[in-house]
Amino acid sequence: MTVVACIGGGQLGRMLGLAGIPLGLDFRFLDPAPDAPAQAVGELIVAAYDDECALRRLAAGSDVVTYEFENVPADAARSLGAIPTAAALELTQDRLEEKRLFRRLGIPTPEFESPPTPALAKTRRLGYDGKGQRLISTLDELADDELAEELVSFRRELSILAVRSTTGETAFYPLVENVHRDGILRSSHAPAADAPTAAAQDSARRLLDALDYAGVLALELFETEDGRLLANEVAPRVHNSGHWTIEGADTSQFENHLRAILGLPLGSTETPEPVAMLNLIGDAPSLEQLLEVPGAHVHLYGKAPRPGRKLGHVTLVGDAVAALDELAALV
Ligand code: AMP
Repeated sequence: MTVVACIGGGQLGRMLGLAGIPLGLDFRFLDPAPDAPAQAVGELIVAAYDDECALRRLAAGSDVVTYEFENVPADAARSLGAIPTAAALELTQDRLEEKRLFRRLGIPTPEFESPPTPALAKTRRLGYDGKGQRLISTLDELADDELAEELVSFRRELSILAVRSTTGETAFYPLVENVHRDGILRSSHAPAADAPTAAAQDSARRLLDALDYAGVLALELFETEDGRLLANEVAPRVHNSGHWTIEGADTSQFENHLRAILGLPLGSTETPEPVAMLNLIGDAPSLEQLLEVPGAHVHLYGKAPRPGRKLGHVTLVGDAVAALDELAALV
């Protein structure tokens, strides 16, 4: 039996498990929350991410260690030889280092050292889903643990999901168009219309190469009003803007992440029809209401409602995308 050990047991871990069980994989998760969503699909070790004894138990007898949450201590990932590497995790944990990496690799990114004001101040570490962001009118307002970033006037937000196996085999999903509100992803549409695919793949490939990467990687991009593509952030893991791949692509991002870290052949990323995904945030309609929407693929993560919390998502594929307005009205 092949055992996948995963630091973090949130919904991403749960969906990794759901994708890996048909492949005959076994799962073990580490999470501080006793009701972590991934408990439904594998053994859950309840402990802090830096609990050395728990980390050893997590990794014991496993074939590969991965992570599903960006804010796990890089030392924990390093001590267990996780894939993607702890180095990839570390670089993406500090927004300033991340932007410097983009610049070193020739990946266009919003101006960040001395941006025009008003600018966006972001905490360097532990920020996610727009948390830890504020508008500043002069750079004097910047705190030590923040970076200032040009306020980008974008036409739309895009992301690209790339996957590379430990064997070097690489694949890309079609570009995704994302809508955020209050810094949280609300919906994704794939494939994005008139997508700047070559430029996005070029940026993603530079990251894969520089990080000697294995697994799924997500790169979030702004497409500016004048048509430039600027990298916002990179996530060394499966990503919310790729949840549509479960039903919309030949192989989901979750299955391909597992294939990649285990050195197995990657699956096709073909996306035959348009797909839309809507997040359920804070509060969700009843399951019955959701299932009344024709063609709705419902994913609930088993989490208690709380403002701003991602509780689930719904995917519509092909002709069913026509029901998007009906679904959005419920949500
Ligand atoms: P982040 O936490 O960096 O992913 O940011 C969350 C969201 O805030 C993004 O998806 C954008 O909608 C918005 N945002 C982040 N950075 C910028 C920026 N430099 N200019 C304009 N909007 C931004």
